[in-house]
Amino acid sequence: MQKIPVGILGATGMVGQNYISLLNDHPWFEVKFVAASPRSAGKPYAEAIRGRWQLARSYAPDVGKLVVADANDVEAAKAAAKRGDCAFVFSALEMGKDEIKHLEEAYAAAGIPVVSNASANRWTDDVPMLIPEINAAHADIIVEQRRKRGWDKGFIAVKPNCSIQSYMIPIYALMQAGYEVKRMFVTTMQAVSGAGYPGVPSLDMIDNIVPYIGGEEEKSELEPLKILGSIDGGIIKNAAGPLVTAHCNRVPVVDGHTACVSLEFGVKKPSVDEVKSIFAAFKSLPQELDLPFAPVQPIILREEADRPQPRKDRDADKGMAVSVGRIRPCKLFDLRFVGLSHNTVRGAAGGGILNAELLKAKGYIQ
Ligand code: NAP
Repeated sequence: MQKIPVGILGATGMVGQNYISLLNDHPWFEVKFVAASPRSAGKPYAEAIRGRWQLARSYAPDVGKLVVADANDVEAAKAAAKRGDCAFVFSALEMGKDEIKHLEEAYAAAGIPVVSNASANRWTDDVPMLIPEINAAHADIIVEQRRKRGWDKGFIAVKPNCSIQSYMIPIYALMQAGYEVKRMFVTTMQAVSGAGYPGVPSLDMIDNIVPYIGGEEEKSELEPLKILGSIDGGIIKNAAGPLVTAHCNRVPVVDGHTACVSLEFGVKKPSVDEVKSIFAAFKSLPQELDLPFAPVQPIILREEADRPQPRKDRDADKGMAVSVGRIRPCKLFDLRFVGLSHNTVRGAAGGGILNAELLKAKGYIQ
């Protein structure tokens, strides 16, 4: 099968490097176009990234030879699309929100679909915010998005914040099994790679915890409502609940976001054993479609008293599965658990790749 050529905007950053690495042997997609800031533009990728590559696995030699484009120059991507090197882009840019929003719209208007990790378009009401195990049906808002804006091939789809998949996939599994989740109390312990590179200064992180991540609590409290919402009148309308309160902390862990969650259910309340069975049995559309990046089991149940742990569990099923443990009754609400997922894989580049696979399977990427 001929692979689909893809571009990466922000290819030199933390998430961009993960895209390059994860797409190395991808069966459907092949990296043929890379773009970053004007600081990196014009250099071969290998030179632009020298001294900044963060991952154990290196980039492919062919990617090292690609000349980095300026991500602000949409014409360069259009030219790459014309020569057959860029059918769509992953957006992993870190710049002002308005700048990213306009830039992603300019790529889509130029006929280049954008699968984004940035938060800039998460609240655009006709842009799907996808976790394919939960809301794959939201991808179909793309028909309306294209119609309203007069785009033929282009569109924008985003993924949510990097920590929420560690608890939203388990919570959705409970909802699917017929249990209403009314209120949630979430405390996250988020890895430093979530802040990009070089990220948080080492003197703030070593021997320390920072109990503040700008904007993160608002994202954790609101994004679940869009993800659980529904398409109505050409936009995605938020679900009414659950009510979420979040405490987000930066901790001295390199990769892997952990969340301690307490849940209050509606009238019907599951037992601990029922919750374990629901988590262990949960599968969804990505597994049915056998998408290349779909974890075999989206939720991996850990029965040990002291798991999940970032170092031991973040790479479960190529970093795409959520590990869940410590399922027990809660004295304030009904039930407690600990969820963990790899923030730069499931929470960023791997999640973006799974979104693109879903969008290809649904015919939006060709
Ligand atoms: P990062 O390491 O700081 O990388 C930023 C990238 O954006 C680099 O490629 C950089 O290019 C490029 N860039 C910066 N300024 C630019 C400009 N003016 N014009 C064009 N390109 C510019 O950030 P990151 O952690 O990879 O995050 C990327 C995006 O993903 C952000 O929107 C972030 O919120 C989101 N995200 C991150 C994570 C995570 O776990 N890290 C998870 C989910 C979502 P140069 O190298 O040339 O400067």
